[in-house]
Amino acid sequence: MTFAEIGLHPAILKALTDSGYSEPTPVQKQAIPAALEGRDLMVSSQTGSGKTAAFMLPALHRFAAQERAPEAARPTSPSSQERRPARSRGNDRQRFQPAQPKMLVLTPTRELALQVTAATDKYGRQVHHVRAVAILGGMPYPKQMELLGRNPAILVATPGRLIDHMSSGKIDFSQLEILVLDEADRMLDMGFIEDIERIVSATPADRQTMLFSATLDGTVGEMAKRMTRDALQIRV
Ligand code: AMP
Repeated sequence: MTFAEIGLHPAILKALTDSGYSEPTPVQKQAIPAALEGRDLMVSSQTGSGKTAAFMLPALHRFAAQERAPEAARPTSPSSQERRPARSRGNDRQRFQPAQPKMLVLTPTRELALQVTAATDKYGRQVHHVRAVAILGGMPYPKQMELLGRNPAILVATPGRLIDHMSSGKIDFSQLEILVLDEADRMLDMGFIEDIERIVSATPADRQTMLFSATLDGTVGEMAKRMTRDALQIRV
């Protein structure tokens, strides 16, 4: 099975060819078709299995399909890059409109969040208007405010810092379509369970949820069942 046979959008196929990927890895072969159908996933897989592309490619496919055809887009026109025409500019805090991401990826560490963001930039290079922003502990707030002010479609975040921004009204999850919990077992080991519960409860119930973990046993399996609906279980 090739990426083209899976039916991914041409913009994504081009990025994969440019990245030198000739065929999907085993986890990608199972996860991508199901995710494209909109199914929830519970995946047991290791780092190095290609799990980032397993959740990011179907998400980018959906966003690419929602866009106008690339030739009709005008990437140089500011108005074509904004979903909310009335968005305020400048640093007027009182008029700051919360970011309304379509996708949220939660990761246990800064390093993983940055890897996921870099992979998203690579796979989504041809998908206009879809940008990923990392929200991380340790990054200066003014910089993060500026990034959120661009209203990115994809947020990649560690739970603690994300909670800070949610509490101060900088993020609105009402438009969220896809939630990914990456390395969920590590997030639990690091004590993020309450933060995760709080973040997930702020997202729409009809979202698509994809959970990745080294193991799906015990506490992480229970959490996975609670946060997904009729999820396809994949073990590689
Ligand atoms: P991950 O498990 O997502 O951290 O990916 C591990 C490595 O595999 C990364 O360096 C990816 O760029 C690479 N990779 C992911 N999918 C493929 C693929 N289908 N073919 C070749 N390399 C891949």
